[in-house]
Amino acid sequence: MFRFVALIRENWDRLAASITLEQGKTFADAKGDVLRGLQVAETACGITTQLTGEVLEVAKDMETRSYREPLGIVSAICPFNFPAMIPLWCIPLATVTGNCLILKPSERDPGAAMILAELAKEAGLPEGVLNIVHGAAKTVNFIIDEPRIKAISFVGSDKAGKYIYTRGSEQGKRVQANLGAKNHACIMPDANRNATVNALVGAAFGAAGQRCMALSALVLVGEAQEWLSDMVEQAKQLKVNAGFEEGADLGPVISKHSKERIESLIQSAVDDGATLLLDGRGYNPEKYPNGNFIAPTIISNVKPHMKCYTEEIFGPVLVCMNVDTFEDAVDLINANKYGNGVAVFTNSGATAARFQRDIEAGQVGINTPIPVPLPMFSFTGNKGSIAGQGGNYFYGKSGLNFYTQLKTVTSLWRSSDAISTKASTAMPTNS
Ligand code: NAD
Repeated sequence: MFRFVALIRENWDRLAASITLEQGKTFADAKGDVLRGLQVAETACGITTQLTGEVLEVAKDMETRSYREPLGIVSAICPFNFPAMIPLWCIPLATVTGNCLILKPSERDPGAAMILAELAKEAGLPEGVLNIVHGAAKTVNFIIDEPRIKAISFVGSDKAGKYIYTRGSEQGKRVQANLGAKNHACIMPDANRNATVNALVGAAFGAAGQRCMALSALVLVGEAQEWLSDMVEQAKQLKVNAGFEEGADLGPVISKHSKERIESLIQSAVDDGATLLLDGRGYNPEKYPNGNFIAPTIISNVKPHMKCYTEEIFGPVLVCMNVDTFEDAVDLINANKYGNGVAVFTNSGATAARFQRDIEAGQVGINTPIPVPLPMFSFTGNKGSIAGQGGNYFYGKSGLNFYTQLKTVTSLWRSSDAISTKASTAMPTNS
C-alpha cells in the first residue's frame, strides 16, 4: 500500500489527464479527484493499528478475543463523475483487509481505474487481488448473482442503486450503496457576504455541477435574498471550456443525453413559473461548437413542488428558494427526500450549533460548502442519498467494518492444567 501510494503520486498527472480526457472536468479539478482517493490509500497504510481486535478475560482462565477476517471476494460498481476517487474509496480498504476485489468502473470513463490497476500491480499486489471488469447492466447483474461475491459497494444514481441494493440483499450479500442528492445551502443574512458568495458559486458550478456533494439548492433567509445579484455576477465570470484549456473553470457535462436532460429541467422551471436569472443553455466555446456544454444557470423563486427541485439535476444549475426565518429554512431542507450534504453560512455560533443539531442531512458544513469528510471519518450520507437503513458507510471505521467479518474466540486454558516444571515432593492433601 505504501508503494501504491507512492506510485499514485508519481502518476498523478497521468491519472488526472485520463479523467479530463474521458470525463471532461478541468485538469485542476481532476487532480483533486485523484487526491481525495489518494488520501484513502494513505490512511489505509495505517491498517495495522486500525485492524487490532479486543481481548478480555471474561472468567477465571477464560478469555474472549475478537478478530477481523476478510469476506473473500468483494465488488465495487462505480459512477462516471469521480473516475479515480470512487475506485480509491474501495481498492485500498478492500485489499488491505485481505479481500480480493472485482471493480467495475463506469463504462463512460474507465481509464483512471485501469491506470490504478496497473499501478497496484506494479506496487506488488498479488495476482488476482484486484480485478477490473467492464460493461454496464449485464456485468452488474453477473456481480449481483455470482454467489462467490460476498459484498457489493455501489455509488451512482437512485435507480441503479436501489435495484442493486434490493437484488443484492436478496442474494444475501452485504451492500453499501450511495445514491443521488440535492445538497442545500442555508444562507443567513449575518454571514460574510463576499466569502459566502464565492464559496457558493464554486460549489454549485465546479465540475459542471456533476458532484454528488455539489451545492444545488440555495435557501436564502430574509435579506440574504438580495445577494442573488452578486451570485449572478460571479457566475458570469466563470470560464466554460474544455478541461485541458487554460483558465477553464468548468468543462462539459458527460453526454449529449445528459445535456438535453439538464436543459429540459431548466425549461421545466420556466414553465412552472420560476425566474431564470442566468440561462446557460446554448453556450459553446468557439473551439468546440459540438461540445456538451452548459454554462452556469441560476433559477430563483423556486417552489418545493417544482420538478427542477424534486429531481437531482446533476449539472451546473443552482435553484434558489426564499424563506423568512431560520426555522423555515431547516423545515424546508428536512422535507427534502435526500440527505447527502448541507451547509449553513452564518457568523453566529449559536445559529450554526442549532443548525448542526436540527438538520437531518448526514454531512454538514458550517461556512464550508462541500463538507466531504477525510478518510479518518466516513462518508456519511443519509436519508434518500443511501439505500437501505444506512450504517454501511464508505471508508473510515465503517468502511473497515464493511469489508471484514468479526469473529470472536473464547478460550479456556485452566491454570491448574499447566505442565509444571517443578516436581512436588509433598503428599497431596486435596485442599
Ligand atoms: P449510474 O447509476 O448511471 O451508474 C453507476 C453505475 O451503475 C455504473 O457503473 C453503471 O454501469 C451501473 N448501472 C447503471 N444503470 C444500471 C442498471 N440499470 N443496472 C445495473 N447497473 C447499472 O450513475 P452515474 O450517472 O454514473 O453517476 C451519477 C450519479 O451518482 C448521480 O446521481 C450522483 O449523485 C451519484 N453519486 C453519488 C455519490 C454519493 O456518494 N452519494 C457519489 C458520486 C455520485
